[in-house]
Amino acid sequence: MKFNDKQRDSELAENIRTRKPVFWTNPARSEDGRMGSTWDDRPIGCEDVRAAEDRFRRFSRVLTDMFPELRDTRGAIESAVLPVPALQSHLGIPLESGRVLIKADHALPVAGSIKARGGIHEVLEFAEKQLLKSSAGTLAGIGDLSLETIRETLGKYQVAVGSTGNLGLSIGVIASALGLGATVHMSADAKRWKKDRLRKRGVQVVEHEGDYGAAVEAGRTAAAADPNCHFVDDEGSLSLFMGYSTAASELRTQLSELGIQIDADHPLFVYLPCGVGGAPGGIAFGLSHVFGPHVHCFFAEPTASPCFLLSLLDESGSNPSVYDIGLDNATEADGLAVPRASARAVEVMRSGIGGVFTVEDEALFKNLHAAAITQGIRVEPSATAAFEGPLWLTSSGPGNAYLARTGLTGSLPKATHLIWTTGGLFVPENEYQAFFERGA
Ligand SMILES: *Cc1c(COP(=O)(O)O)cnc(C)c1O
Repeated sequence: MKFNDKQRDSELAENIRTRKPVFWTNPARSEDGRMGSTWDDRPIGCEDVRAAEDRFRRFSRVLTDMFPELRDTRGAIESAVLPVPALQSHLGIPLESGRVLIKADHALPVAGSIKARGGIHEVLEFAEKQLLKSSAGTLAGIGDLSLETIRETLGKYQVAVGSTGNLGLSIGVIASALGLGATVHMSADAKRWKKDRLRKRGVQVVEHEGDYGAAVEAGRTAAAADPNCHFVDDEGSLSLFMGYSTAASELRTQLSELGIQIDADHPLFVYLPCGVGGAPGGIAFGLSHVFGPHVHCFFAEPTASPCFLLSLLDESGSNPSVYDIGLDNATEADGLAVPRASARAVEVMRSGIGGVFTVEDEALFKNLHAAAITQGIRVEPSATAAFEGPLWLTSSGPGNAYLARTGLTGSLPKATHLIWTTGGLFVPENEYQAFFERGA
């Protein structure tokens, strides 16, 4: 990791090194907020988002057959947008600063976290490829295949993934439902209950001593030895990224149903917890295609693991690890405990992201408690990382400078602040109680 001369002596660099919360806004954000348009030299655009949406639609009947909880949405994996007036006031955001809403991915069905869209999409894409190869189906006919045929056809194939927990949950659950073999390589910091939940579904769980990066490498190596095994690469997968991006059109419909318009006079600020950056990056990519320059995305990282911020700051183009500057990646936010960002997601976001802020572990628990007592919302610690976003943007020096720079200071009363809560549905009661008490 190389800070440049100006950065090295700056307060920002010092605060990052000493684990103080920071808010950095992106001086390289283009005026139209346009994201990068390549992934590993492959051009990417709204056709890719649409292809992922179409894939989910093709499988909607199959998904309903596997997961009865999807009956109400006819196979769509969706989360609500929630008005949270009591939380807004608790967070100290006056109405003159805009309206705070929550995008409730903490309650996403099937996987219980933001990983549902990305993980399920990638496994569906792999499954679809094998089904077409086996002459079991045509693209148009995928939705008419019986679950039995699908499971029979896919039985000889495997998927593998390295994960701190939630990605493994998502991949393991969908893979085993489709009849695929599944192996999840988990880091030492993954929670016990997540491993148990997977094993109960017949997923093979391999535990690794090292951190998340080590688990991913071990998974990659093991999968490479088996031609029938597909490795889900959290740091490099375009299929995951595009699966996440499908949240954008869902959000457009929901905001419009709530009578909320987004335009030059009514900006949308979105705050997303960030690990490797694939989930928030994919969502931000989708949002930029839906809302253009009027959406501004900010990522939230633990003070111990600000890997995405380091990569954005690093001008040498290397993809630094948080260990390089003496941080330890030790955080209770297991969904965000990632030492190195996805280089591809960073490159897509470089010209489009609004900024990044960091959050201390204590604040995660405080926010978890606040969500429960103000709105009855039950989230896991990682999922609350973004709660401080609206306050940073509307009440800090860098935030006010960002608003002035983008010409939005006067539009604040008409702004929407969307906090993305990213996980929690399946956290066991006793663990949740311990989080809640710590927050109290
Ligand atoms: C994985 C995860 C994130 C972040 O996703 P990345 O793709 O790693 O950036 C955020 N919150 C929760 C709960 C997660 O599990």
